[in-house]
Amino acid sequence: MNNSILPTYNRSKLSFKRGQGSWLETSDGTRYLDFGSGIAVNSLGHCHPKLVKALEKQSKMLWHTSNLHNIEQQEKLADFLVKNSFGEKVFFTNSGAESVECAIKMARKYHYEKGNSKKNKIITFKGSFHGRTLATIAATGDKKLTNGFGPKLQGFVTMSPVDLETIHKMETARFAAVLVEPIQGEGGIRCFHHSFLNELRALCDQYDMLLIFDEVQCGIGRTGALFAYEKYNVIPDIMTVAKGLGGGFPIGACIATKKASSGMDKGSHGSTFGGNPLACSVANAVLTEITKAGFLNSVIQKSIILWQNLARLIDQYPHIYTEIRGDGMMLGVKCAIKNSYIIETAYSERLLLVPAADNVVRILPPLNITMKDVALGIKKLERVAIALEEAKDYHDKAFPRYQRYQHRRT
Ligand SMILES: *Cc1c(COP(=O)(O)O)cnc(C)c1O
Repeated sequence: MNNSILPTYNRSKLSFKRGQGSWLETSDGTRYLDFGSGIAVNSLGHCHPKLVKALEKQSKMLWHTSNLHNIEQQEKLADFLVKNSFGEKVFFTNSGAESVECAIKMARKYHYEKGNSKKNKIITFKGSFHGRTLATIAATGDKKLTNGFGPKLQGFVTMSPVDLETIHKMETARFAAVLVEPIQGEGGIRCFHHSFLNELRALCDQYDMLLIFDEVQCGIGRTGALFAYEKYNVIPDIMTVAKGLGGGFPIGACIATKKASSGMDKGSHGSTFGGNPLACSVANAVLTEITKAGFLNSVIQKSIILWQNLARLIDQYPHIYTEIRGDGMMLGVKCAIKNSYIIETAYSERLLLVPAADNVVRILPPLNITMKDVALGIKKLERVAIALEEAKDYHDKAFPRYQRYQHRRT
């Protein structure tokens, strides 16, 4: 722990020196299998040679010029995203939250330019996560994120998905857009059924609202499709991406139809760093790899192996793991004991997992993980279950004993 760093994170004790493929190494040479990819960020693992090469090459040519000028790498990336999605216009950012901010502004401006300045409210869902800026915490609506940061930004209506029908009774003339993650990530890998997403599309059409998909976590090949919306066959008007797009280099994007983006005229939005040549070169290399013939198919193949084996672990260790959720390589395992115990025990098995709400551990391996490492990760998950079952009394009161266990395997 470092005293100079604002203590907003609950960090593990680990620190890594280098990474290669699906493995991370500490300074003493201990290797950990990375089943988290940061948080769905290292889509091609660590130090992928093609990404290193792209970054190295660009770093010797040009770092930054600003959006006052045309940026070749940015144009290439925008064209690629347009060619491979429903989108027609792209704005580049440096993060997920900034991409969602852009989407919110775009939706409001669309209606404003049509003379509907009062049509500015955004519908969002309970359990969602859209980032940590003032607008995106207001969008999520969760008190844990908004407490102490008031006054809360107005204009968000947080609904429970089961209450969707009540929209008909609400003041829909004031609703500008619906913002939704096709699969909730931080919320605990909760999938919306495609019929629900279809219903949202129909409601948006009925009440002249824009449909915004937040694919910051589920996009860029995570589900086995380049974008999750393709799998569910529901086409949004605006989509946000970030995490996996740069494979570890910070970059995000807001992608929209020509119509939805029509209000965003000159001077209406901007970013100093967004779409910078370094970030765009790396993102171009990421997308080149992910869209290679057979790549996304291999994600699905590996996800089936993962799913089948996780299902087996749930059968064998029902006191540890209780349920699998998710799609492709965006998987969540609901735990029977505190998810933090599982994550801690996984550290001692040299396996990195990521927690999520609803007592879930997330399994988000690099998309190019080898079949061998998938099998090894499953073995490690099994050892975690065995270790915790052995500890017998693995409930809260047994925590000290469980901690002792942690030091056994070194
Ligand atoms: C992580 C995440 C964000 C926020 O991204 P940052 O890069 O941390 O700002 C937004 N939406 C979703 C769905 C996310 O998973």
